Amino acid sequence: MAYDDNNVFAKILRGDIPCRKVYEDDHVLAFEDIEPKRPVHVLVIPKGKYEDATDFGENASDAEIAALHRAIARIARDSNIDGTGYRLIANTGSNGGQEVPHLHFHMLGGAPAGPMIK
Ligand code: 5GP
Repeated sequence: MAYDDNNVFAKILRGDIPCRKVYEDDHVLAFEDIEPKRPVHVLVIPKGKYEDATDFGENASDAEIAALHRAIARIARDSNIDGTGYRLIANTGSNGGQEVPHLHFHMLGGAPAGPMIK
């Protein structure tokens, strides 16, 4: 499926709609989820146009993949959720419950995550 340039995270990347930025580098943007499910709920996205985790794993450069995971670790430290832990989720496709078709990792921390399958 072709990447949808009108998805909400593409608009955030273009600056068409605002976000509460947590972290940014050449390859990555991270911002607070608009409807936080935990005290800390950060969305970490690549700046490249990747629809989901499969697209990213197949087509992103090693530098992009490394940057995303380095960013997650750094945000965990900076948000003080590294010690108590957090849930890291990339909902993928319709069965995965993905609503926004631009790869994003949810970082959920600050309170226990609860059961894995709801
Ligand atoms: P998904 O269900 O695709 O894994 O998660 C999409 C997430 O994006 C949801 O947690 C939702 O609250 C968040 N979201 C949707 N629209 C916006 C927006 O305009 N700004 C921000 N910061 N988050 C959004």
